[in-house]
Amino acid sequence: MKIMPNRMDRGFYKYQEEFEQKAIDVLRSGWYVLGNEVSSFEEEFAEYIGSKYCVGLASGLDALWLAFRILGIGKGDEVLVQGNAYIACVMGITINGATPIFVEPNEHYGIDVDKIEEKITDKTKAILVVHLYGMASEMDKIVDICKRHNLKLVEDCAQSHGACFDGKVTGTFGDIGCFSFYPSKNLGAFGDGGAIVTDNEEIAKQFKIYRNYGSEKRYYNKVVGTNSRLDEIQAGLL
Ligand SMILES: *Cc1c(COP(=O)(O)O)cnc(C)c1O
Repeated sequence: MKIMPNRMDRGFYKYQEEFEQKAIDVLRSGWYVLGNEVSSFEEEFAEYIGSKYCVGLASGLDALWLAFRILGIGKGDEVLVQGNAYIACVMGITINGATPIFVEPNEHYGIDVDKIEEKITDKTKAILVVHLYGMASEMDKIVDICKRHNLKLVEDCAQSHGACFDGKVTGTFGDIGCFSFYPSKNLGAFGDGGAIVTDNEEIAKQFKIYRNYGSEKRYYNKVVGTNSRLDEIQAGLL
């Protein structure tokens, strides 16, 4: 028997007609980047997660590095992250010139909450919690540590779409929840995609500016942004 661990087409065949119809609709619409499909996906996803805002992006990595950029974390700052995290988590920190400080994981592959405080210094600005393998980390204790030490909290939910801690969905505990829709993720697109969720209107607005070359108004570029737009076709399929 041949076991294929990552059969990406299984989800496609399950809802084949719907996917094909949506793809045709978007192709025929004549609008391919940042349109109605993206905004309606953002609305639906925010509602599903239980956040006020969702902003669609090009990848999970973009969600992570833009999160720290927008929180103002950079050179000379330290961010605590568990040692068994994915490379993108570390890069989300290092792209900004900040320093990742590794904390040991516990037996459930989450950050060991008893080993966080010994790593906090004057330079610590944030904790990046990575909910691996669909399992939520111990968010009550982590939120408490962040409050006591005045730290920002970013959640990497690239593997935990819809996973809950104490009835609350991952991505809603901190300042920003980061998602990837890479095809193999819990919610996968048919190509690359990502998003953030937040309850903070200003943060959501900043993500919309940063994802589109730092531009809020056409040809007025206030910050050095990037190109991290979610395609209409991916948003529609998602
Ligand atoms: C996949 C993944 C990412 C990166 O997402 P991309 O969309 O591939 O950039 C980040 N963090 C974790 C935990 C992941 O599994």
